[in-house]
Amino acid sequence: MKSNEYELLEKLYFERIGGTDQELEACHIIQDELSKIGLESHIEAFDVVTNHVSKVSLEVLQPYQKTYEATAYMGCTNTEGLAGDLCYFESDNAVSRKQVSGKIALVNGYLGMKTFKAITEAKAIGFITYNGNIDREENDLDPRELRETLQEFGNLPGVNIRVDDAMEMVAKGASEVRIVVKQTIEKVHSHNLVCDIKGENDDILVCTAHYDSVPHSKGAYDNATGSVCLYGLAKELKDKKLGHSIRLIWCGSEERGLLGSKAYVEAHQEEMEHIGLCVNVDMIGSIMGRRIAVCTSDMSLVHYIDYFGKIKGFPIEVSQGVYSSDSTPFADKGVPAVSFARITTSGTGEIHSRYDVIEHLSEQMLVQDTSFICDFVEKMANAYVIPVPKEIPDNMKEEIEKYYGRDLKKKKEEEKKA
Ligand SMILES: [Zn+2]
Repeated sequence: MKSNEYELLEKLYFERIGGTDQELEACHIIQDELSKIGLESHIEAFDVVTNHVSKVSLEVLQPYQKTYEATAYMGCTNTEGLAGDLCYFESDNAVSRKQVSGKIALVNGYLGMKTFKAITEAKAIGFITYNGNIDREENDLDPRELRETLQEFGNLPGVNIRVDDAMEMVAKGASEVRIVVKQTIEKVHSHNLVCDIKGENDDILVCTAHYDSVPHSKGAYDNATGSVCLYGLAKELKDKKLGHSIRLIWCGSEERGLLGSKAYVEAHQEEMEHIGLCVNVDMIGSIMGRRIAVCTSDMSLVHYIDYFGKIKGFPIEVSQGVYSSDSTPFADKGVPAVSFARITTSGTGEIHSRYDVIEHLSEQMLVQDTSFICDFVEKMANAYVIPVPKEIPDNMKEEIEKYYGRDLKKKKEEEKKA
């Protein structure tokens, strides 16, 4: 017989992109399940943007003519037709920077902050990225977003294409291209779902998991599993006597840059001093994999979870670090945080594509993961005092600065002044 948790996982098995009606539908599904077990919850909306694309294309003009299917980068500069020489910007180095000046850059894969800073500084006039895997029969073409955090470095027209098309362009020596992008940007809402389990005092343990997915993915593993884990915690802990209070937060729009947890910590500034620890769950329950816990805290929490795993016979690798998920905005506000995950091994399941499917998951693993996390949370909730020191060590502060790209921004500002 299937558990309630696994049934919820199946109910959440659809595309849930941040800021869409589908994401809100998923939010309501979780809320309904909570109310079925007698728990009240509330929804907190926050602003995100969406785009309406009326025109987008990528044409190769020289030495051959071909139009490739492309998606517009949400938030990028519009252009009726930007023609220019193409430069394959393989990596950020002095030669590539010189070559890309005044040209349209073809960038490898995902456009990170570092690469975008490099091509804007090198005076590229537009950019092309690609997604997919050449060895697959068919690749979905992902819509991409020029996040606000990247727009701080500048803005250019940009499109995304399939990997097979990018490879064809390079193989055939495409030298001149034209980009067309016409889009309007609109503000919409994404949502966090919040549910409290009251303890005897007002110190709070926050438990987070994002419930949104990327386009073309039903996000079973990333992160319906974490969402279901939080529901499992609610079910298990709601009737227990707890010392500290537990606040469960299902975060929206994590995949668009941790937008839900960032909105939460901004809207609840005064609450931060009462939160002793953030426990985040992002990707568990895979058939194959290895368990990890990443602590953005001092080393005592690392040792504690390591010992806890050893005592319980639960294999887990614990380390100090910054995990790219909703735990980080909390740590950035001075709240120690830990992210739990079961990372799939190479070839046994991937994320951020249509291949993130429920068939790669195991109910048994999901139950084991949830049970370990639940025991840990219960221990913390019933601790005489929350034992994790309420401070972020300097090395972690530095990692967080890097993660947010603030070191790059600082550099840019210094360069401006100089
Ligand atoms: Zn995730």
